[in-house]
Amino acid sequence: MRKLAVLTSGGDAPGMNAAIRAVVRKAIFHGLETYGIYQGFSGLISGNIKKLEVGAVGDIIHRGGTILQSARCEEFKTKEGQLQGLEQLKSKGIDGLIVIGGDGSYKGAQGLSQLGFPCIGVPGTIDNDIPGTQYTIGFDTALNTVLDAIDKIRDTATSHERTFIIEVMGRHAGDIALWSGLAGGAETILIPEIPGDLKEIAQRLEKGMERGKKHSIIVVAEGVTSGTEIALRLEEETGLEIRVSVLGHMQRGGSPTAFDRVLASRLGARAVELLMDGKGGRAVGIHKDEIIDEDLFSALEKAHDFKQNLYTLSKELSI
Ligand code: ATP
Repeated sequence: MRKLAVLTSGGDAPGMNAAIRAVVRKAIFHGLETYGIYQGFSGLISGNIKKLEVGAVGDIIHRGGTILQSARCEEFKTKEGQLQGLEQLKSKGIDGLIVIGGDGSYKGAQGLSQLGFPCIGVPGTIDNDIPGTQYTIGFDTALNTVLDAIDKIRDTATSHERTFIIEVMGRHAGDIALWSGLAGGAETILIPEIPGDLKEIAQRLEKGMERGKKHSIIVVAEGVTSGTEIALRLEEETGLEIRVSVLGHMQRGGSPTAFDRVLASRLGARAVELLMDGKGGRAVGIHKDEIIDEDLFSALEKAHDFKQNLYTLSKELSI
């Protein structure tokens, strides 16, 4: 292993820059050359590849987004697209690739691995939905962004004695909703993993109002249905006036938390170590505070580890 490359792909996540920095610095520390591939797999196919020196990753550890930019690239889902990417890597003499992204990005890395090119997947997505790691890079920052919003909305909800629905990201996994709802003291959390019963929620809202509750906060993951839809149905059931706040893309931005920076640094560095050990087709992750790696294929096959115990606790605490 003499030259390695790194790219970010899929939705951007805070902490991706810290991971890029770790990859570049760790590799250079061990005498390797590093290359940055810009705009994900799209930039790989078109050859948007530049050498990264130590200074290229200076002053980025605290920045959200990704200096390498990200892109969605349908072409890379095809064998032809992957072969074009492989040609670009070979033409630059690159011997290994680190892909920072979500499960879709892992599939791209898997495609290249199947073609015999050593690739390592690093979990970078705010959704926390990658099997094979307890936490993904960006989740903690997004969670704290959402929590800050919930706290602020709670202030106005209390002042006006209102019920608020806060819609957060999470198409297939409800981790952002679950964790932020628990941390923010939400009365109800709606997530894709557990179908909620709107009639029961309506009854709880009414009971709460009867015993003098000043406000109610309902957190819903976008994968369930829209916050507006739920508000309409609850208004029909209860007659209450319900406000909706859709947090949207602000959840992706912002300076990464200390947790995400440390996680990104550890995962990025381990990815380099694996390539230096001649290993490819692996995904790195964290489990019980240990950095682990496992086969890229099996990392994708397992189901996302849903925390039923957190959901149960949130129910117990929101009586
Ligand atoms: P997020 O979870 O934040 O959305 P992601 O990595 O899952 O991130 P996707 O849009 O699903 O985001 O995937 C990113 C890119 O990975 C795609 O645009 C495509 O280039 C590549 N990719 C996705 N699926 C495949 C696949 N089946 N085979 C090869 N490449 C893929």
